[in-house]
Amino acid sequence: MFDLELTDAHLATMRPDGAGYGVVRDGAIGIRDGQIAWVGPRSERPRSAQTRETLRCGGRWLLPGFVDCHTHAVYAGNRAGEFERRLHGATYADIAREGGGINATVRATRAAGEDELVAQSRPRVAALLAEGVTTLEVKSGYGLDTANEMKMLRAARQLAVALPVTVRTTLLAAHALPPEFAGRADDYIDYVCRDTIPAVAAAGIADAVDAFCETIGFTPAQVRRVFAAARAYGLEVKLHADQLSDLGGAALAAEFGALSADHLEYTNEEGVAAMAASGTAAVILPGAFYFLNETRKPPIALFRKYGVPMALATDCNPGTSPLTSLLLTMNMAATLFGLSVAECLAGVTRNAAQALGLAGETGSLTAGKRADIAIWDVSRPAELVYRIGFNPLHRRIFGGAMDDARRSMR
Ligand SMILES: [Zn+2]
Repeated sequence: MFDLELTDAHLATMRPDGAGYGVVRDGAIGIRDGQIAWVGPRSERPRSAQTRETLRCGGRWLLPGFVDCHTHAVYAGNRAGEFERRLHGATYADIAREGGGINATVRATRAAGEDELVAQSRPRVAALLAEGVTTLEVKSGYGLDTANEMKMLRAARQLAVALPVTVRTTLLAAHALPPEFAGRADDYIDYVCRDTIPAVAAAGIADAVDAFCETIGFTPAQVRRVFAAARAYGLEVKLHADQLSDLGGAALAAEFGALSADHLEYTNEEGVAAMAASGTAAVILPGAFYFLNETRKPPIALFRKYGVPMALATDCNPGTSPLTSLLLTMNMAATLFGLSVAECLAGVTRNAAQALGLAGETGSLTAGKRADIAIWDVSRPAELVYRIGFNPLHRRIFGGAMDDARRSMR
């Protein structure tokens, strides 16, 4: 018995064992108890199966619900004023001197209550959902003290109560140096390891720990201490690595068995080989590359050569990637970095699920996985990557429940 059956549809299953899209023409999906119970060609549907409700999809394409595996979508305020000033010639240094940049977001986020943070962040998450996202990662990193980092993580989890989406939370206390620790980065890392990580682990409000390993962030030695503390508390790790310079971040992430290393513009072959050996996914973030007008591209050919799974994400954040569209992210990855359509779609489905440690639960249309499905009004999957500024989502199904993304999620 199926609770819901989707029929008269083409499927791009994105199943992990298949190459490309895993296409099933004229397929059907049977859903029971929120999970995919059966998937395949309609002609092979089990004859004995009964169904409570049938949705005819009119020849549309069904794909797994999208997974945005790297966001900073919870924050207060925005930096549109700084953006405008930079276009009139102000530099990042000018803005930082006046207390702008990330410090402005930290001040606004610290000042906001938890409910206010949820209210300000909700439209960003709703915009992602309206393009077929069913799973989302949210990082902290604008609180930069234990209480405010915990407030951000709780706000992120509240969004999963308010909206039909799975949210994974990542503690990013090692994002930037808070003003009260100016010139004392090692002391701040001590504080993160001795106070923040234990408190967050005890509260059970983070799935992973991340850090910003960069000349303008934290050193590899400091990141190593954060990761050792995270591991001691049983938390997964991820890393902002090699975005602006090659500090060996990819290899460091791999050494700790990280779920993912993210950005990776400056990663060298040794780092890619280490990621392949540790099963660490590469998260490519073309939105920040575009917004910062960068020129150094991530080593896509090396990821292919070593078989490192590539995921794509918005990196939604107020400073370097104010982006809430995975459709546009895919177009950027294809246009700027030369990813194929199949690589783009795998990057927002099965590989993104892997980057969150959720490969067994979502990211492909496979029996036994959660029924997270997006129904698209397109003639072929490539339209999802080819179009710019056009959202052909027809319907979204989250955990077996149908919603009309555009109507219900403001
Ligand atoms: Zn980021």
